[in-house]
Amino acid sequence: MKTIGLIGGMSWESSAVYYNLINKKVKKKLGGFHSCKNIMTTVDFAEIEKLQHEDRWEDLDEMMADCAKQLEIAGADFVILCTNTMHLCTHAILSRISIPFLHIAEATGMEIESLGLKKVALLGTKFTMEKDFYKKYIFDIFGIEVIIPNEFERGQVHNIIYGKLVQGIIDTESREIYQKIIKNLENNGAEGVILGCTEIPLLISNSDVDIPVFDTTTIHAHKAVEWALEE
Ligand code: GLU
Repeated sequence: MKTIGLIGGMSWESSAVYYNLINKKVKKKLGGFHSCKNIMTTVDFAEIEKLQHEDRWEDLDEMMADCAKQLEIAGADFVILCTNTMHLCTHAILSRISIPFLHIAEATGMEIESLGLKKVALLGTKFTMEKDFYKKYIFDIFGIEVIIPNEFERGQVHNIIYGKLVQGIIDTESREIYQKIIKNLENNGAEGVILGCTEIPLLISNSDVDIPVFDTTTIHAHKAVEWALEE
C-alpha cells in the first residue's frame, strides 16, 4: 500500500471526514485489521482565510507548496489537497514536488463523466465558483459544462461556508437556502451539482435534492485510496 500525503486543516472539519473515509475504504477493500497509511500536515485555517480574503494568492501558493514538500520529505507517495478552493495553488504545488498530485477536480470529473452528464452546477467558495481554475479544468478535460449560481446566491453559498460550515455549524436554515439555490440551477439545466467545497457534504446529500450530487470530499478520498492500493 502506498502512503497518502494529505494537506489538511482547510477546514479541520472536513479533514476529519477525509481521515475517516480513507481508513474506512481501506478496511472495506482489504478487511481484517487493515487501515490507511497516510501522513497529514495541517495548517491553521485562520491564516489561510485571512490571506484568501486579502487576495494574497502568491503567499498561499508558497504555503501550499511548502506543505506538499513536507509530505514528500516525510515519505508520502503522492499528495492530495483536502480543499477545493486551494487547488488554485496547484501550479505552485506541482512545481515543488516530484511525487504525483491527485487533483480534486480530476476525480470529480471522472465521476460526472461516468454518469454521462453534460451540464452540472458548481457550489463552493466564491473563489471556486468565480475564478476559472475549477470550471475550466472540468470543461477542458471532460467537456462538461459547469454553471454557477447568480451573484446574490453565490454570496449566500460563500457566507454559509465561512460563517457556518467551517465552524462546524450545520443547520436547517442553511440547508434550505442551498436546496433553493440547487433547485434554481436545476431549472437552468443542471443535471447534477458538484458540492465543490469539502464542507458542503456535511450539509447536503443526495436525499436533500432532486439531481445527483457530487460529494467532492468522498470522491477525492476514495480515489486516493484507489491510487494507494494500485500495484
Ligand atoms: N474546504 C473548502 C473548499 O473545499 C473551503 C475552505 C477553503 O477555503 O479552503 O473549498
